[in-house]
Amino acid sequence: MAANRRLGTAKQAALNRFRKRMQDASCIFCRIVRGEIPCSKVYEDEQVLAFLDIHPIAPVHFLLIPKEHVPTLSEARAVHEAVLGKMMGLAPRLAREQGADDGFRLIVNTGRVGRQEVLHVHMHVLGGKEPLGSMLPRPKT
Ligand code: AMP
Ligand code: ZN
Repeated sequence: MAANRRLGTAKQAALNRFRKRMQDASCIFCRIVRGEIPCSKVYEDEQVLAFLDIHPIAPVHFLLIPKEHVPTLSEARAVHEAVLGKMMGLAPRLAREQGADDGFRLIVNTGRVGRQEVLHVHMHVLGGKEPLGSMLPRPKT
């Protein structure tokens, strides 16, 4: 029994060391994951965290992130497919719970062209009661 408990503690310590390696000391979202910066949490499990965007651009606007530090979607690898799929699967449920019950929009700004500002993969989940603005203004022809 005591041996089992010790094994549990050792496993937990190994898991904590692994998590630490997987996070970037200076990344703002990693700091949120570690609880060093507060957030308005929407959802959390072992792999992902969702929290309200600090500067919302829609009545419902939260961010869904993997806890592992992956800078951009371009740098995601096959090993990240499971967590990215999980995020896609969670988005509709969390959007509904936040009040976006008739559709929503997912945005993953990626890299320079995508104007990604925080270099830790995140999905913006946007919605509200009324339709959102158009995705991007169409160039005039
Ligand atoms: P992006 O331009 O796609 O990299 O978006 C980064 C998003 O992170 C912006 O919408 C910011 O408002 C949001 N953001 C930055 N810092 C925080 C924070 N501490 N808590 C919540 N949202 C944040
Ligand atoms: Zn990070």
